[in-house]
Amino acid sequence: MKSATTDLPIELHDKCFELSISEVDLEARINTLGQAITSDMGEKDPLVLVVLKGAFVFAADLLRALEFDPEVEFIFLSSYKGMESSGDVKLLRGFDVDRVKGRTILVVEDIIETGTTIRVLNDFLRENGAVDVRLATLLFKPASLKEHTEPDYVGFEIAREFVVGYGLDYEQRGRSLPRIYKLKAEG
Ligand code: 5GP
Ligand code: MG
Repeated sequence: MKSATTDLPIELHDKCFELSISEVDLEARINTLGQAITSDMGEKDPLVLVVLKGAFVFAADLLRALEFDPEVEFIFLSSYKGMESSGDVKLLRGFDVDRVKGRTILVVEDIIETGTTIRVLNDFLRENGAVDVRLATLLFKPASLKEHTEPDYVGFEIAREFVVGYGLDYEQRGRSLPRIYKLKAEG
């Protein structure tokens, strides 16, 4: 069950998770990112492209931390099975891709692990006429990267660990948790 307060561990399916990043730290960091994006990109009128499902909570907070009012689109990608990236990125649901032509795009992602998802999406956007593609990710696991990717805006760098909460799931649970949890070491 969801623990509403404190830093108690939680269980999802067969796994136990412990607190990694608190609400207070998330809020402060996202406000800082919002200010940075506003000053770097506000004048470019970027189309904000949110990668579902995982990035929906981050996107909701990040959008409200911007001091401009961008167009927002959603794309539904999937590459994950259980606790591992499959490397095979599926486009589950797209949007009207004509909208990227000639535009600066700000992709909003929950987490970059191998970098494959974002590379595939970046290629897709460029092929469809985006003039510039920037990337904001809440979490970044630099030690897990397999493709060259440098996110422009990173909330938190984390170790090679599996995390849930704040939009991120383990087998479709945990998305509604208001903070980030990491898999607890056994024993
Ligand atoms: P990549 O293609 O960079 O390896 O993986 C990116 C996607 O895998 C993310 O958008 C996210 O959906 C999923 N992912 C990667 N690491 C984690 C993690 O620690 N926890 C969860 N819940 N999803 C992850
Ligand atoms: Mg994702």
